[in-house]
Amino acid sequence: MGIFVDEERCNRCGTADEPMCVRDCPGDLMFIKENGKAAIVDNRECWDCAACVKVCPTQAITMQLPTSLVVRGVQLRGRAMKHKTEWRIRLRDGEVKGYETPSTGKPPFVPSL
Ligand code: SF4
Ligand code: SF4
Repeated sequence: MGIFVDEERCNRCGTADEPMCVRDCPGDLMFIKENGKAAIVDNRECWDCAACVKVCPTQAITMQLPTSLVVRGVQLRGRAMKHKTEWRIRLRDGEVKGYETPSTGKPPFVPSL
């Protein structure tokens, strides 16, 4: 899996001192390039947690879904809101499907290994 940043949409969170994707990535993988756009250090290190996807205020970040789950080219966008997260899946033919997940307001559960 992994993520993709649409540089046309990324505005560095407006004037934010610390862009949200940089702030929230648990793997400390997101950074701002010299051109002021966000990027990931190495997609092979991505945990696929979607924290950056949900928090981006311009929906500039998409998660590339694995071909084992769906056909190639399908992307997932998210938008975190106070009580829910809205998800949008764009299919290869351009059709967009949406669903919502409730927000618990609690930190994510991390299983011990
Ligand atoms: S959260 Fe979105 S708009 Fe903000 S820096 Fe990251 S990609 Fe750009
Ligand atoms: S999906 Fe999670 S681990 Fe991967 S870049 Fe985004 S916040 Fe970081």
